[in-house]
Amino acid sequence: MFPVKENLHRVLGSLPESVRLVAISKYHPAEYIMAAYEEGQRVFGESHEQELRQKHEQLPQDIEWHFIGHLQTNKVKYIVPYITMIEAVDSLKLLREIEKQAAKAGRVVKVLLELHIAEEATKYGLTPDALRQLLSDGEWRQMSHVHICGLMMMASNVDDEQQIAAEFQQAADLFDEVKLQFFAADDAFCERSWGMSADFPIAVTHGSTMVRIGTDIFGPRVY
Ligand SMILES: *Cc1c(COP(=O)(O)O)cnc(C)c1O
Repeated sequence: MFPVKENLHRVLGSLPESVRLVAISKYHPAEYIMAAYEEGQRVFGESHEQELRQKHEQLPQDIEWHFIGHLQTNKVKYIVPYITMIEAVDSLKLLREIEKQAAKAGRVVKVLLELHIAEEATKYGLTPDALRQLLSDGEWRQMSHVHICGLMMMASNVDDEQQIAAEFQQAADLFDEVKLQFFAADDAFCERSWGMSADFPIAVTHGSTMVRIGTDIFGPRVY
């Protein structure tokens, strides 16, 4: 098995105490997750509903699952009963569906709004203006079964570290802006989910509170 335990401790050792690790286990087998679990890791991220469902059923129930992928509205009902956080909410339509299903399940689901800052045209997420629009529109204030806890973003997949740093900083500035304007009284709006295997050291110097790391812990994914 890939040296999951050693990798986990190396990654944890390189993170400031204020930054939480979401171990991204997509495409990796349950044994890998258990290896990290045995070392005390409890927060894992997955990006496919069916794979997550199987792992959730198979693995310890005190694992906190984060959904990190693009979520189709017709899949929301399957994950809402047990998910801890849906990280990549990128439309009002999706937010409404989470509210509806969470009300049915009698839960409050934590969510992050996904920002689109990277230059790649294929990435999902809200542009800064779409984020401002969604928040000033105000419908989310009526949603008592979703709790918006912060922002999530992925930087461009490029070698240019200055560009990556600038994108993280743009996200951090936007976080400060919307925190002040919409969430000043809400202490739970505090999460800035940015940083992956390739760029997390840059992310933690630009305000990240939560990094999503897969490859550096579990090795390359076999699709
Ligand atoms: C797969 C994935 C990650 C983890 O990427 P690594 O490069 O393996 O660390 C982080 N965030 C999202 C949204 C992902 O889909």
